[in-house]
Amino acid sequence: MEILAEHIINIQREMPPNVTLVAVTKTRPIELLEEAYSLGLRNFGENRVQEMVDKQPLLPADIKWHQIGHLQTNKVKFIAPFVHLIHSIDSLKLLMEVDRQALKNDRIIDCLLQIYIAREESKFGLDEEEAILMLQSDEFREMKNIRICGLMGMATYTDDDETVRREFASLKSFFDRLKSDYFTEKDYFTHLSMGMSGDYHIAIEQGSTMVRIGTALFGER
Ligand SMILES: *Cc1c(COP(=O)(O)O)cnc(C)c1O
Repeated sequence: MEILAEHIINIQREMPPNVTLVAVTKTRPIELLEEAYSLGLRNFGENRVQEMVDKQPLLPADIKWHQIGHLQTNKVKFIAPFVHLIHSIDSLKLLMEVDRQALKNDRIIDCLLQIYIAREESKFGLDEEEAILMLQSDEFREMKNIRICGLMGMATYTDDDETVRREFASLKSFFDRLKSDYFTEKDYFTHLSMGMSGDYHIAIEQGSTMVRIGTALFGER
Protein backbone atom coordinates (compact mmCIF):
# COMPACT_ATOMS: atom_id res chain seq x y z
CA MET A 1 0.00 0.00 0.00
CA GLU A 2 1.08 3.57 -0.57
CA ILE A 3 2.77 5.02 2.45
CA LEU A 4 0.40 7.99 2.80
CA ALA A 5 -2.66 5.73 2.64
CA GLU A 6 -1.13 3.57 5.34
CA HIS A 7 -0.44 6.56 7.59
CA ILE A 8 -4.00 7.85 7.15
CA ILE A 9 -5.51 4.49 8.02
CA ASN A 10 -3.28 4.02 11.05
CA ILE A 11 -3.95 7.48 12.44
CA GLN A 12 -7.69 7.31 11.81
CA ARG A 13 -7.83 3.96 13.54
CA GLU A 14 -6.52 5.63 16.69
CA MET A 15 -9.05 8.43 16.60
CA PRO A 16 -12.48 8.30 18.24
CA PRO A 17 -15.31 9.18 15.81
CA ASN A 18 -15.80 12.67 17.30
CA VAL A 19 -12.23 13.74 16.50
CA THR A 20 -11.47 15.53 13.23
CA LEU A 21 -8.14 14.97 11.50
CA VAL A 22 -6.72 18.18 10.05
CA ALA A 23 -3.92 17.30 7.65
CA VAL A 24 -1.23 19.95 8.04
CA THR A 25 -0.09 20.60 4.48
CA LYS A 26 2.23 23.57 4.99
CA THR A 27 5.32 23.41 2.77
CA ARG A 28 3.91 20.38 0.90
CA PRO A 29 3.53 20.48 -2.88
CA ILE A 30 0.12 20.49 -4.56
CA GLU A 31 0.57 16.90 -5.82
CA LEU A 32 0.73 15.65 -2.25
CA LEU A 33 -2.43 17.55 -1.32
CA GLU A 34 -4.16 16.02 -4.35
CA GLU A 35 -3.10 12.59 -3.21
CA ALA A 36 -4.35 13.25 0.31
CA TYR A 37 -7.64 14.45 -1.19
CA SER A 38 -7.97 11.34 -3.34
CA LEU A 39 -7.46 9.25 -0.21
CA GLY A 40 -10.43 10.95 1.40
CA LEU A 41 -8.94 13.78 3.47
CA ARG A 42 -10.97 17.01 3.36
CA ASN A 43 -9.60 19.14 6.20
CA PHE A 44 -6.30 20.83 5.36
CA GLY A 45 -4.32 23.13 7.65
CA GLU A 46 -1.88 25.81 6.57
CA ASN A 47 0.03 28.28 8.69
CA ARG A 48 0.90 30.90 6.08
CA VAL A 49 -1.78 32.95 4.39
CA GLN A 50 0.10 33.29 1.12
CA GLU A 51 0.54 29.56 0.80
CA MET A 52 -3.12 28.82 1.50
CA VAL A 53 -4.24 31.46 -0.98
CA ASP A 54 -1.94 29.99 -3.64
CA LYS A 55 -3.11 26.41 -3.11
CA GLN A 56 -6.84 26.90 -2.57
CA PRO A 57 -7.86 27.69 -6.18
CA LEU A 58 -5.86 24.73 -7.53
CA LEU A 59 -7.73 22.14 -5.49
CA PRO A 60 -11.33 20.89 -5.21
CA ALA A 61 -13.83 23.32 -3.70
CA ASP A 62 -15.06 20.98 -0.98
CA ILE A 63 -11.77 21.15 0.92
CA LYS A 64 -12.10 22.76 4.33
CA TRP A 65 -9.18 25.13 4.85
CA HIS A 66 -7.94 25.67 8.38
CA GLN A 67 -5.74 28.63 9.28
CA ILE A 68 -3.59 27.19 12.08
CA GLY A 69 -0.66 29.62 12.28
CA HIS A 70 -0.38 33.16 13.53
CA LEU A 71 -2.60 35.46 11.48
CA GLN A 72 -1.72 39.09 10.85
CA THR A 73 -4.63 41.51 10.80
CA ASN A 74 -3.72 42.87 7.38
CA LYS A 75 -3.86 39.38 5.83
CA VAL A 76 -7.34 38.39 6.98
CA LYS A 77 -8.95 39.75 3.82
CA PHE A 78 -7.14 37.22 1.63
CA ILE A 79 -8.59 34.15 3.34
CA ALA A 80 -11.95 35.59 4.41
CA PRO A 81 -13.78 34.46 1.23
CA PHE A 82 -13.16 30.76 1.80
CA VAL A 83 -11.48 29.85 5.11
CA HIS A 84 -13.35 27.16 7.05
CA LEU A 85 -11.93 27.67 10.55
CA ILE A 86 -9.36 30.05 12.01
CA HIS A 87 -7.58 28.33 14.93
CA SER A 88 -5.32 31.20 15.86
CA ILE A 89 -7.34 34.13 17.22
CA ASP A 90 -5.00 35.77 19.70
CA SER A 91 -6.31 39.33 20.04
CA LEU A 92 -9.53 41.30 20.03
CA LYS A 93 -8.15 43.43 17.22
CA LEU A 94 -7.69 40.36 15.02
CA LEU A 95 -11.15 39.04 15.82
CA MET A 96 -12.69 42.41 14.95
CA GLU A 97 -10.96 42.35 11.58
CA VAL A 98 -12.20 38.80 10.91
CA ASP A 99 -15.72 39.99 11.74
CA ARG A 100 -15.35 42.96 9.37
CA GLN A 101 -14.03 40.84 6.50
CA ALA A 102 -16.66 38.16 7.08
CA LEU A 103 -19.37 40.80 6.76
CA LYS A 104 -17.84 42.03 3.51
CA ASN A 105 -17.99 38.48 2.19
CA ASP A 106 -21.51 38.01 3.49
CA ARG A 107 -20.55 35.05 5.63
CA ILE A 108 -20.00 33.92 9.18
CA ILE A 109 -16.46 32.80 9.91
CA ASP A 110 -15.84 30.19 12.59
CA CYS A 111 -12.91 30.83 14.90
CA LEU A 112 -11.06 29.30 17.83
CA LEU A 113 -9.30 31.26 20.53
CA GLN A 114 -5.65 30.25 20.75
CA ILE A 115 -4.81 29.79 24.41
CA TYR A 116 -1.31 29.88 25.69
CA ILE A 117 -0.65 26.69 27.70
CA ALA A 118 3.03 25.83 27.13
CA ARG A 119 5.77 26.23 29.65
CA GLU A 120 8.13 28.03 27.32
CA GLU A 121 7.57 31.65 26.37
CA SER A 122 5.48 31.67 23.24
CA LYS A 123 4.88 34.73 21.15
CA PHE A 124 1.27 33.94 20.38
CA GLY A 125 -1.88 33.07 22.26
CA LEU A 126 -4.09 34.50 24.95
CA ASP A 127 -3.87 33.65 28.60
CA GLU A 128 -7.10 32.68 30.35
CA GLU A 129 -7.71 36.10 31.77
CA GLU A 130 -7.25 37.81 28.41
CA ALA A 131 -9.66 35.36 26.79
CA ILE A 132 -12.30 36.05 29.42
CA LEU A 133 -11.88 39.81 29.09
CA MET A 134 -12.36 39.45 25.36
CA LEU A 135 -15.56 37.45 25.77
CA GLN A 136 -16.89 40.03 28.22
CA SER A 137 -16.11 43.03 26.02
CA ASP A 138 -18.76 45.15 24.32
CA GLU A 139 -16.82 44.81 21.08
CA PHE A 140 -17.19 41.04 21.20
CA ARG A 141 -20.90 41.21 21.93
CA GLU A 142 -21.44 43.41 18.90
CA MET A 143 -19.78 41.06 16.42
CA LYS A 144 -22.32 39.42 14.15
CA ASN A 145 -20.17 37.66 11.57
CA ILE A 146 -17.89 35.47 13.65
CA ARG A 147 -18.58 32.51 15.91
CA ILE A 148 -16.21 31.34 18.60
CA CYS A 149 -16.41 27.56 18.19
CA GLY A 150 -13.85 26.53 20.79
CA LEU A 151 -10.19 26.69 21.72
CA MET A 152 -6.80 25.77 20.33
CA GLY A 153 -3.57 25.21 22.20
CA MET A 154 -0.06 23.89 21.73
CA ALA A 155 1.73 21.98 24.46
CA THR A 156 5.37 22.37 25.35
CA TYR A 157 7.67 20.58 22.93
CA THR A 158 9.11 17.95 25.27
CA ASP A 159 9.53 14.21 25.81
CA ASP A 160 7.99 14.58 29.23
CA ASP A 161 4.48 13.19 28.74
CA GLU A 162 3.34 14.39 32.15
CA THR A 163 4.02 18.03 31.26
CA VAL A 164 2.11 17.65 27.99
CA ARG A 165 -0.75 15.84 29.74
CA ARG A 166 -1.03 18.55 32.38
CA GLU A 167 -1.09 21.32 29.75
CA PHE A 168 -3.77 19.64 27.65
CA ALA A 169 -5.81 18.89 30.78
CA SER A 170 -5.68 22.57 31.75
CA LEU A 171 -6.91 23.59 28.29
CA LYS A 172 -9.75 21.08 28.48
CA SER A 173 -10.83 22.37 31.88
CA PHE A 174 -10.71 25.97 30.63
CA PHE A 175 -12.81 24.88 27.65
CA ASP A 176 -15.40 23.32 30.00
CA ARG A 177 -15.46 26.45 32.12
CA LEU A 178 -16.03 28.76 29.14
CA LYS A 179 -18.67 26.41 27.79
CA SER A 180 -20.68 26.65 31.00
CA ASP A 181 -20.02 30.35 31.70
CA TYR A 182 -20.31 31.88 28.22
CA PHE A 183 -21.57 29.35 25.68
CA THR A 184 -24.20 27.26 27.48
CA GLU A 185 -26.82 27.57 24.78
CA LYS A 186 -24.35 27.63 21.91
CA ASP A 187 -24.11 24.20 20.38
CA TYR A 188 -21.36 25.36 18.01
CA PHE A 189 -18.90 25.79 20.90
CA THR A 190 -17.57 22.24 20.52
CA HIS A 191 -14.02 22.28 19.19
CA LEU A 192 -10.91 21.67 21.21
CA SER A 193 -8.03 21.78 18.74
CA MET A 194 -5.06 20.15 20.41
CA GLY A 195 -2.55 17.53 19.37
CA MET A 196 0.17 17.38 16.71
CA SER A 197 2.27 14.50 15.37
CA GLY A 198 4.27 14.13 18.58
CA ASP A 199 1.50 14.46 21.13
CA TYR A 200 -1.87 13.65 19.59
CA HIS A 201 -2.33 10.43 21.60
CA ILE A 202 -2.16 12.41 24.82
CA ALA A 203 -4.34 15.17 23.37
CA ILE A 204 -7.08 12.69 22.42
CA GLU A 205 -6.90 11.08 25.86
CA GLN A 206 -7.39 14.58 27.34
CA GLY A 207 -10.45 15.42 25.25
CA SER A 208 -9.23 16.83 21.95
CA THR A 209 -11.83 16.99 19.17
CA MET A 210 -9.44 18.13 16.45
CA VAL A 211 -5.85 17.06 15.83
CA ARG A 212 -3.49 18.93 13.48
CA ILE A 213 -1.06 16.44 11.99
CA GLY A 214 1.67 17.00 9.42
CA THR A 215 4.81 14.97 9.94
CA ALA A 216 3.09 11.73 10.99
CA LEU A 217 1.13 11.79 7.71
CA PHE A 218 3.60 13.16 5.19
CA GLY A 219 7.03 12.63 6.74
CA GLU A 220 9.60 15.20 7.83
CA ARG A 221 9.29 18.66 6.33
C1 LIG B 1 3.12 22.65 11.75
C2 LIG B 1 1.98 22.71 12.70
C3 LIG B 1 1.33 21.53 13.11
C4 LIG B 1 1.72 20.14 12.65
O1 LIG B 1 2.95 19.77 13.17
P1 LIG B 1 3.51 18.25 12.96
O2 LIG B 1 4.45 18.10 14.09
O3 LIG B 1 4.14 18.23 11.63
O4 LIG B 1 2.35 17.33 13.05
C5 LIG B 1 0.25 21.65 13.97
N1 LIG B 1 -0.16 22.85 14.42
C6 LIG B 1 0.45 24.01 14.06
C7 LIG B 1 -0.06 25.29 14.61
C8 LIG B 1 1.55 23.96 13.19
O5 LIG B 1 2.14 25.11 12.85
